Amino acid sequence: METAGSSADAERAALLERIRGLERASRPLEPGAGRRAKLRAPVMASAERFLRGIGTRKAYEETEDRGIGLLDVQIGETGIPIGEIVARWEHDVVRPGGLPGSGGHLAYIPGGGLYHSALADYLAAVSNKYAGIFFTGPGAVRMENLLVRWVADLVGYPAGAGGSLSSGGSIANLTAVATARDAHGLRGADYASAVVYTTSQAHHCIDKALRIAGMGEAKLRHVPMDEGFRMRPDALEAAIAADRAAGLRPWMVLAAAGTTDAGAVDPLDAIGIVAKREGCWYHVDAAYGGFFLLTEHGRRALKGIERSDSVVLDPHKSLFLPFGSGVVLVRDAGRLAATHDYEGSYMQDAEREPGEVSPADLSPELSKHFRAARMWLPLVALGTRPFQAALDEKLLLARYFHAEARALGFDVGGAPDLSVVTFRWAPRGMSAERADAANQAIVDAMRRDGRIFISSTLLDGRFTLRMAVLAFRTHRRHVDLGLRILREQVEALGG
Ligand SMILES: *Cc1c(COP(=O)(O)O)cnc(C)c1O
Repeated sequence: METAGSSADAERAALLERIRGLERASRPLEPGAGRRAKLRAPVMASAERFLRGIGTRKAYEETEDRGIGLLDVQIGETGIPIGEIVARWEHDVVRPGGLPGSGGHLAYIPGGGLYHSALADYLAAVSNKYAGIFFTGPGAVRMENLLVRWVADLVGYPAGAGGSLSSGGSIANLTAVATARDAHGLRGADYASAVVYTTSQAHHCIDKALRIAGMGEAKLRHVPMDEGFRMRPDALEAAIAADRAAGLRPWMVLAAAGTTDAGAVDPLDAIGIVAKREGCWYHVDAAYGGFFLLTEHGRRALKGIERSDSVVLDPHKSLFLPFGSGVVLVRDAGRLAATHDYEGSYMQDAEREPGEVSPADLSPELSKHFRAARMWLPLVALGTRPFQAALDEKLLLARYFHAEARALGFDVGGAPDLSVVTFRWAPRGMSAERADAANQAIVDAMRRDGRIFISSTLLDGRFTLRMAVLAFRTHRRHVDLGLRILREQVEALGG
């Protein structure tokens, strides 16, 4: 006869049997040592194939399919072998399009991808240490904070500065804009009269940041520039005075330490003096140019950056890290915390440790990628000297290209502030429209060729070519190859 007790026992046994079954079925999520070795081998082999071949790969691979084969791989109930996956990866992900870390990539802002960072990412992901809060990840948090301090020292910020590692410059700029908004006590009713001063060369993420921060109504003033696309401090002063006279509220001055387009460095010192005198928040966007501070030339070019209230640098640009690495710093860490700290009752165990601030209190993120590892490991393993050498090499390669392109008959502006050169084929007697078409033809032909990848832009409304040296793999031979292809192009144009 069934009793209440025996039916409860049967239920318990069935429950345990199901749990056992599910544990078995989920076992592939935790491969053993032998299985791990079998997974790792084809992945490592693929990484080696990539690294050995990167010197001969095209910087831009124009393909018909553009990786569409990826759509043939179904995410089904059961998986497919790792060998097949790696083959797909190489054919549909690695092959098509630009190769930002290759030596021939001189378009946009080239990328990095240090091998040391890849190894650090592997360790970070395997351990999955929590980098948001000191209580649960004291080592990971110390690592982030010491890197923030290292960058703050590079910039010349005082001891009270703070910051965090973000996914990139856009999010870092957004963090700074929100901080500047709160630091000046701006509320909804003030937004329409708040004024931001920048130039037409400012990165579009600034405009985006203002809108995301709720300040889309704020007035954006494009301050006139000199012939090198740098903000004119006298024009800034005049614009602020005019706005004040009109009853508006000058709020933020935003300078660039290396514009994305022309690589121009605004006169940071003079602009900082104006911003301070006028009581404006001074923000410097050094996403591209920031780590040139490791060089003597960079320190001279960026003099005055230390006057800023906030600054953004992208380690995935001038520190050669893989994409997904930005830094925001605020001179007064309290301002950053005032905008980003939080309370949640479910977080009550994560008591605030005196002395070591948690990244979650200084950024919009809580559970964040342990991104300090990919910056820390290469810096401690290699030291700063190779970084400094690589950056100095890029600066000189840009100067070299500038002189050689001029000798080929291209119109070039003044010497490059950093590592971007803009140039245009416009021989005397050629109409501006025909010159625009000729430069378009040059950039198209170079992309089809693919060995050297350059990009184009509009400067003063004219189609202009640009080349940016920033990949750590770009050396003299790449610049020479680019020059050779350019010479062939202008000869084909009858130049
Ligand atoms: C690249 C860049 C940004 C945007 O940074 P992301 O890392 O791409 O988000 C902002 N400002 C400048 C000057 C840049 O060069």
